[in-house]
Amino acid sequence: MKSILKNTISSNKKYTSNGKVASYIPELKKANQDDLGICIIDKNNNMYCAGDYNKKFTIQSISKPIVLALALMDNEWEYVFSKVGMEPSGDPFNSIMKLETNDTKKPCNPMINAGAIATTALIKGKDLQEKEERMISFFRKLAKNDSLQINEDVYKSEKLTGDRNRAMGYLLKNDGFIEGDVEEVLDLYFKQCSIEIDTVDLARIGLLFANYGIDMETGERIISEDISRMVKTFMVTCGMYDASGEFALKVGIPAKSGVGGGIMASVPKRMGIGVFGPALDKKGNSIAGLKILEDLSKKLELNIF
Ligand code: GLU
Repeated sequence: MKSILKNTISSNKKYTSNGKVASYIPELKKANQDDLGICIIDKNNNMYCAGDYNKKFTIQSISKPIVLALALMDNEWEYVFSKVGMEPSGDPFNSIMKLETNDTKKPCNPMINAGAIATTALIKGKDLQEKEERMISFFRKLAKNDSLQINEDVYKSEKLTGDRNRAMGYLLKNDGFIEGDVEEVLDLYFKQCSIEIDTVDLARIGLLFANYGIDMETGERIISEDISRMVKTFMVTCGMYDASGEFALKVGIPAKSGVGGGIMASVPKRMGIGVFGPALDKKGNSIAGLKILEDLSKKLELNIF
C-alpha cells in the first residue's frame, strides 16, 4: 500500500502545475502550489501516508459535512431540513442565484455556502463562545486530535473579505432560514472554515463516517448510523462542488473538497482518505487530488457503485 501511494503521488504530481491556489481569500494565496500528500486509515487502523501528508492547511468546505452532522445531532431533522434542502444545486459553491430563483428560496443543500451558513446557524449554545467551543470540540473528537486550532490569520482574512457570504447570510435571515444574529452566524462559519488540519485528520474523520459513526479503536458510538449515512449521501450528491456528478462517475466514493486543497473521502466499511493539493481546478477541487482518487479507486477497487 505504501508504495502504491508513493507511486500515485509521483505520477500525478505533474498536474499540480495545471491548477491555481485559491486567491479570493488572500491568506490562501500563501499555499505552495506543488504540495501533494495523502493519508489512508483503514478499518483495522492501519495508516499509510505519502508526500506532504503532514502539512497543515485550512479545512474550508470540508467543515460542511461535519457541521451538518452536529446540526442533525443538535436538532430535530425536520427542523434542519426546513432550513436547508436536499438537492444538488449544479451551481458554483458560492452562488447566490437560487436563493432568489428557487420557489421556496431555501438554500439547495448543506454542502454549498448558502446551505452551510444555514446549517451553522443550527449549532446549539447559549452564546457565540459556547457554540464555538462545542463546534471545535466536535471537530477534535472526530479527528481524535485535541490540538486542532483555528488559523487566526485565515479566519481574519475570510472575515475581512467574505462579503459574498455576508450577502447570503442576510438574504437567508430575511427569508427565515437563519434565526438570530447574522454576524454571529457568519463569524462561526468563518471559524469552522479556518480550522487547521492535515491529511491524517481528514482520513480519521473520513473513517468515522465510513464506519457509520463508530470509533473503530474504542467501539464508541460518536455519530448515529442514520446521520453518518445522510452525511455520506450528501457527499456523493453535492460534495465535489458542481463536479459532483463527474466525480461520482469517475471515482464513485463519497467525498468532500475544500478550497484549501483538501479532499476527505469515506469508503463505506473500508477506509478514510485525506488528500491535500492546494492547486485547484476551475471548479475549486484539488486538481491533482482528483487524479489521485481516480487512480486509487481503480487500483484498490473502491468504487461503491
Ligand atoms: N470559506 C470558504 C468560503 O466560504 C469555503 C469555500 C470552500 O472551501 O468551498 O468561501
